[in-house]
Amino acid sequence: MSTDTVQVLQSDGFNKSRWTQLPRDVLIGHQAILQLPDIIADIRPGRSVLIISGGTTREVAGNAVEDILKDSYDVKRFVAGKLDTTTLEACSQASMSTDFLIGVGGGRVIDCAKIVSYKQGKPFISVPTAASHDGIISGRATLPTEAGSVSVGAHPPIAVVADTGIISQAPHRLMASGCADVISNYTAILDWELAHRLRGEQISEYAIALSKMTAEILVKDANLIKPGQEEAAWIVVKALVSSGVSMAIAGSSRPASGGEHKFGHALERLIPGAALHGEACGIGSIMTMYLHGGDWREIRSSLARIGAPTTPKELNIPDEIVIEALLKARDIRPERYTILDMGLTRESAEHLVQMLYEA
Ligand SMILES: [Zn+2]
Repeated sequence: MSTDTVQVLQSDGFNKSRWTQLPRDVLIGHQAILQLPDIIADIRPGRSVLIISGGTTREVAGNAVEDILKDSYDVKRFVAGKLDTTTLEACSQASMSTDFLIGVGGGRVIDCAKIVSYKQGKPFISVPTAASHDGIISGRATLPTEAGSVSVGAHPPIAVVADTGIISQAPHRLMASGCADVISNYTAILDWELAHRLRGEQISEYAIALSKMTAEILVKDANLIKPGQEEAAWIVVKALVSSGVSMAIAGSSRPASGGEHKFGHALERLIPGAALHGEACGIGSIMTMYLHGGDWREIRSSLARIGAPTTPKELNIPDEIVIEALLKARDIRPERYTILDMGLTRESAEHLVQMLYEA
């Protein structure tokens, strides 16, 4: 045995370590918010709470949560308008005198609660009013900045209380977008495996298996995803939670965010607000699945069955902007290597967008 070999053996000790943060309680179901006092009694986060909601979501559920808690807890409220540094600062100030936070609302409100909770070192409970993306449970938040939205690290909620009655009443477009976010796991995984083979990036087989299974179950149940149905809310929230757990296992968003997400973020920068997060990622996933040589028609038909858009036209976005977003995707998180980072040409990008309209 050469000296070199001995050195390799000596330095190759086991030194892996990973911190997996998960919510402690996850409650999904009919009239789940009525059980909030039980959840709080279980985790004992303190006596005073700041309830963060949006303008509309306060009417939908924020007031109900306040009514449920006001006799037993010292309750303060904060209405988060748009999510920016001014709102985050005001919310941080409002949370100073409280022990824990509850975010009652959609992605923006949950992200606000997540970021403030992280900054203040106080636990927060996520009470989503829509199943629009997997951020309701994950440890990452999207923060809009002047340069476009950025994904920032925070920590996951200590508990999630998803009331299927409330969620089923949200506009169907939001739920369809949440489904598209989960369906895009298919291509996120392919991108991760590509980065592993090509660049030696570490993968987690557990995270991949869970993320893939979640997308498969959702596609299998696509026919049950109907507007206004509580069962549909049940299926979608479970999928979003499962997707969030796969990210927690991975210790990153890799199992649920690949090239289709980079495309979605690039599109959001080029034409802010035109597409919901999941809608953009769903369309991105059809195109990146084609590039991976997979069954892109299956992705497209699953999205269509759920009621999510499959073409830029359905979102009133010019094709040219989508082509541009495909080409700019490589500038988003360049360290996250995906199929869109392999030298996509304008001609190929044009072809990808044309393909979306194919019968
Ligand atoms: Zn997503």
